[in-house]
Amino acid sequence: MIFEYCPNCKAYRGFKRHFTIWTLILVCLTWGAWILALPFYPKRCIVCGMLYDEARKINKKRKQKEQQQENNENLNITPEK
Ligand SMILES: [Zn+2]
Repeated sequence: MIFEYCPNCKAYRGFKRHFTIWTLILVCLTWGAWILALPFYPKRCIVCGMLYDEARKINKKRKQKEQQQENNENLNITPEK
């Protein structure tokens, strides 16, 4: 499990791969071959189900924005809108 800030929950949440009973059935149907596909399952927020990749993208954007604002404040320039 990975911990990351979830923009949807607005809190730090655990992210992990979500397996269902269908995952298990697929593994049985394919004689275990489906196990090879499991690492490709996306990690999701355990509370709201938001994708880990998506949460990270939003966090990155927010960090860039914050940094930009900081730079603008340092240079005493008001951001254009
Ligand atoms: Zn969440």
